[in-house]
Amino acid sequence: MSRVGQGWDIHRLVEGGPLRLAGVDVPFDRSLLGHSDADVVLHALADALLGAVAAGDIGTHFPDTDPSLRGADSAVLLRQVVALLQARGHSIENVDVTVLAERPKLGPHFDRMRRRLADLLGVAVERVSLKAKSTEGLGAVGRGDAIAALAVALVS
Ligand SMILES: [Zn+2]
Repeated sequence: MSRVGQGWDIHRLVEGGPLRLAGVDVPFDRSLLGHSDADVVLHALADALLGAVAAGDIGTHFPDTDPSLRGADSAVLLRQVVALLQARGHSIENVDVTVLAERPKLGPHFDRMRRRLADLLGVAVERVSLKAKSTEGLGAVGRGDAIAALAVALVS
C-alpha cells in the first residue's frame, strides 16, 4: 500500500545570514527565525512524512515549548522522523518540494540541497525533487519577509 502526505511551513526572514535551507547553509544576508533553526524545507518534509503515515505533525513530536529544541538542527529532527517511519516498516518512495522565495536565487544550490535531502531521507537523489518559485512580489514572501515551503511525500 502506498500512502501520500503533504506538509507546508513558513518562517520569517530576519537580518543576518547565512540562510539555512534544506539542511545546507546558503550565503545570504538574512536568515529564518524560529524556535529551532527554522529550516522550512526540512519542516515541510517532516510534516509530509508524518502525514503519510498519520503520525501527527512536527509540532506534536517536537513542540516549540520544549526548551531543549531551541536552535535545534532540523536535520536531527528529520532523521528522527525517518527513523520513526522505518521502525513502522515504511520506506520512502519519493518526495517533491517547492520552495517559495523571492530571494536569494536557489537554483545554484539545488544540487547540494538534493544530495543533502537524499542523505537525510536515506534514499537515492533521483527520488528527491526540489523546485523554487517566486510569488511575483505578492504577500510576505514576495516582500522578502518570509520563505515558505510545500512538500509531498509518497511512502510505501
Ligand atoms: Zn518550521
